[in-house]
Amino acid sequence: MRKHIFNAGPCILSDTARENTAKAIIDLDGIGQSIMEVSHRSKEFVAIFDETVELFKEVLGIPDGYSVLFLGGGASTQFAMIPFNFLKTKAAYLNTGTWSTKAIKEAKLFGEVNVVASSEDKGFNYIPKDYSIPEDIDYFHITTNNTIKGTEIHEDMDSPVPLFADMSSDILSRPVDVAKYDMIYGGAQKNLGPAGVTFVIIKDALLDKVADRAIPTMLKYKTHVDKGSMFNTPPVTPIFVVRETLKWLKSIGGVNEMYKLNKAKAELLYNAIDDSKMFVGTVAKEDRSLMNICFVLKDEYKEKEADFVKFAGERNCVGIKGHRSVGGFRASCYNALSIDSVQVLVDAMRDFEKANL
Ligand SMILES: *Cc1c(COP(=O)(O)O)cnc(C)c1O
Repeated sequence: MRKHIFNAGPCILSDTARENTAKAIIDLDGIGQSIMEVSHRSKEFVAIFDETVELFKEVLGIPDGYSVLFLGGGASTQFAMIPFNFLKTKAAYLNTGTWSTKAIKEAKLFGEVNVVASSEDKGFNYIPKDYSIPEDIDYFHITTNNTIKGTEIHEDMDSPVPLFADMSSDILSRPVDVAKYDMIYGGAQKNLGPAGVTFVIIKDALLDKVADRAIPTMLKYKTHVDKGSMFNTPPVTPIFVVRETLKWLKSIGGVNEMYKLNKAKAELLYNAIDDSKMFVGTVAKEDRSLMNICFVLKDEYKEKEADFVKFAGERNCVGIKGHRSVGGFRASCYNALSIDSVQVLVDAMRDFEKANL
């Protein structure tokens, strides 16, 4: 039987994406070749690629003047590629967790980094708000959703300098005003598709502002924009799954509808946490992520942590163990997770509490 998949990444995928991919793995649209075997330059794949880009633009509302890339290397490669291309002298970063910290570390290899604010003082359990974005910098970098710590920046911000956002784990979970950003990027495996493909939405005008240093061809954004992500072999099969995921998202009503569902799922689980005598949330309420919901057992019940993971596992909930740096539990409620799965987890929490309080 199908499990209730709360994995933080790779994530749960829609049934239609899985089923259509399974068919294409055997035979792509009756052409006698698997999606894994077709040439990335074949007319069949070029059509799939173009449709994926168009669907992404349509579903997220990406305006003219932006390019969409599908690359390898993960969001982690973007941490280095961004400063390699765009950090001339100084950039600013907001430090909201593990992934921001990693992005900052890479940027420091290329120039001065101004960490305008950090929530490290409280274990990254909130989003800093008391800071201003300097104007004498090349760009400002944020992580909109902190997958490990469970906080999220809920509003698009105005920035006087180019704004770069790692949206690995909340892309397409809510409407975004793309025009406020110069670059949005992420690993697809949190909400957009399987592992193996990285999306980059980049403002074309940014390409005129590249730092004056030698950059390897593969690490230049311009290379990939000029060649439409086909400078080398792109991740063909993962891109197919992204297309199927975007088609599914469009068919259920797009990002606005998804946002409503995500809010309903998160409310159901956060209410259960707040009503509980055993469980407690780990982050500031106003900054709670809709995607990655972190909670722990109160101190007096701490020794029951493994018991609850097992208890929930018996109800077919997988992936709820918290990240090793936080402990406790993390239920990732990505787009394809149904509210029925969240209800199963909530019932498990209530029943566990009844049995153990
Ligand atoms: C998972 C994650 C990353 C790392 O992505 P990779 O594709 O594994 O390199 C970066 N940022 C955020 C916010 C993430 O959730």
